Parts: sequence; C-alpha cells; structure tokens
Amino acid sequence: MKRYNGPHLCEDGFKQAEFLVKENEVKEYESGGDEGEDAIIIPAFYNSHTHIADSIVDEPPVGTLEEVVGPGGLKEKKLSSSSKDELASSMYDYLKDALSYGVRYIFEFREGGLEGLQTFERAMEMIDDDIRPAVWGRPARREHDEKELEEILEHASGIGLSAYRDWDEKQIKKVAKSTHKLDRPLAMHCSEDVREPIEEVIDMGVHHLVHMVEATEEDLLLCAEEDIPVVICPRSNLFFGRMPDIPKMIRCGVNLSLGTDNAMISDPNMFREMETAYRLGKLQGDVSPIDILMMSTWNPRKSLKRPCIEEEEETLLILEKKKGDPAYNIIKGYSSRDIIDVVKW
Ligand SMILES: [Zn+2]
Repeated sequence: MKRYNGPHLCEDGFKQAEFLVKENEVKEYESGGDEGEDAIIIPAFYNSHTHIADSIVDEPPVGTLEEVVGPGGLKEKKLSSSSKDELASSMYDYLKDALSYGVRYIFEFREGGLEGLQTFERAMEMIDDDIRPAVWGRPARREHDEKELEEILEHASGIGLSAYRDWDEKQIKKVAKSTHKLDRPLAMHCSEDVREPIEEVIDMGVHHLVHMVEATEEDLLLCAEEDIPVVICPRSNLFFGRMPDIPKMIRCGVNLSLGTDNAMISDPNMFREMETAYRLGKLQGDVSPIDILMMSTWNPRKSLKRPCIEEEEETLLILEKKKGDPAYNIIKGYSSRDIIDVVKW
C-alpha cells in the first residue's frame, strides 16, 4: 500500500489531492489531502499521432519530406522490403518504448491496407502491458473500394488518410462517404507542407486533422468554429524544416494535441515532444507550460478519444515532485526516470 499527495492534474488545472494505491490501483482519493509521499499525479500520456511501422528504417533519413516519406521514398522502400515478422518486432520495440515514457494511448495511422493492420495486430499481441491503440487504417491504393473499406474497418477504429492533395477528388470523397455510411470516423493529414483547401476537407466530415502547419489564420479559425481538433507533431515538422505556429493555433481557439509522427524521425517520448513544443512556442511568441502539458493529457481525452477509445478506467502517472511549478518542471526536463508509478483509477 502506498500513499501519494501533491498537485493532481485535473481538466482545469492542478489541484492538491491524496491517493491511496494498492496493487497498482487507486483505492482512495481525497481532494485536498496532504498525507503520504510527495508526488505529481497526471493522467497517462496520449501520443495522438504515430506511424509506428516506420521504426523499421534504421538509417538517418536524408532528403525532403517527399524523398523520405513520399511515394517511392526511403520509408516506402524499406517497408516493402521487410518481412511481416521484422515489421511486427520493430513495432513491438516501439510500443515498449512508448510504455516506458508513460504513454498508454496511441493514435496510430496504419498504412498498407488490410495487411498493414494485421501486422500491427501481431505487434499488439506481443505486448502484454495495457497500451490502448486507436488504429486508423487506409486503403492499400488511393482508390475507393467499398469492400476493402469494410474489411479495413473490421480491424481499425477509423480511416486515416495521407492528405487531400494526394488523392483524386472524386475518389477521396467516395472514401469519406463510405466511411460515414459505415458509421466510423475519418481523419487525415492536412496542410503539412502546402496549404490545402480547408472547406473541402471539412465538408468531408473529419474527426481530426494532423499538422496544419501551412494553414492560414482563417483555416485555423474555421477548425475552432467547427470543433475540429488538430494534432501537431513539432519534432517531425522541424525535421523537415517546418514549424507549426503554436501560439497562433492557441489564439485561434484550436483544440491541440501532440503526436510524435513517423517513428524513424522521432521516438515516442512525449516528454521530448512537449519540451520541443514549448521551446518552439516561446520562439514564436509565448505559450504556457500547462497548455503544452494539456496537449498530451486532457486535450486528447476531451477532443479525440471518442468514439475510438471506449475505456472509462483511467491510468495515472505518479511523477517525482521537485520544487517549483509542476507543469514547467515536467516540460523542461522530466524523463522516464521521473515516473515513480503507473496506476489504474
Ligand atoms: Zn503522419
């Protein structure tokens, strides 16, 4: 039995609380309580955008966004020349890493059609810890095929597409229509390296968008107005010489979550992703540490979770408490070694 007390990250910020933990489960909770070991208590991290099979790439990627992750690029070559076993085992290693960084929920954009999803399932079977994925599948080719979509959605939570501009307009609209007909969510990358027509994208009915780096202020305001959350991946963008304007996105009222994107560009370390987002925000204006911390904890719970992750039980991270502001301390320098405990609530 263990008792922890300290700042507890709630939906609207930190509040003093006390937790009694037995066999990795919270047995008692007292708001305002101050008995027991000092700690910071936060909800486990969401990694809100990944492509975990990319962990198979074992060389430093050189070239433009197109040359690395585009059609026929480094990623595609390596993925197609690897066996399913190799892919599943490298995905497994990635998921293990994610767990060690306090990640318990991931939003995985799975490529390779039905086959890609099956490889992911193999990796998940090897993980006996409780990571909860929301998997977004996509057709093997950029073509609408109702039967294929039905099959994909037997293995995936929703459909997650590359980008509007990669597709023939008629085909992508048919995919959107079928996805909604099957009552599943549709998500996609948007405005990563060039601005894409946001009205067209929103008209297709999207659950969330990824990147929006090249989006204009009007595009961002429209996302806020239409309640479309955006997942940003600052380390991945920086790698390709781009920067999401985080203060502007916050100013426009967009609900932001953080993802680590392609596994060969960034590991699933949310501490590093938050630190990068914070420093980038400072470079472009200002951003508060708590706003950044919310992007990997409460924001995805509020905006992305449904209908993909049904679980009501919560997982908490019990972190080392150091003197000073808890959010700032976590953002500026915490790592796996500061996780004292991971408990169910
Ligand atoms: Zn992506």
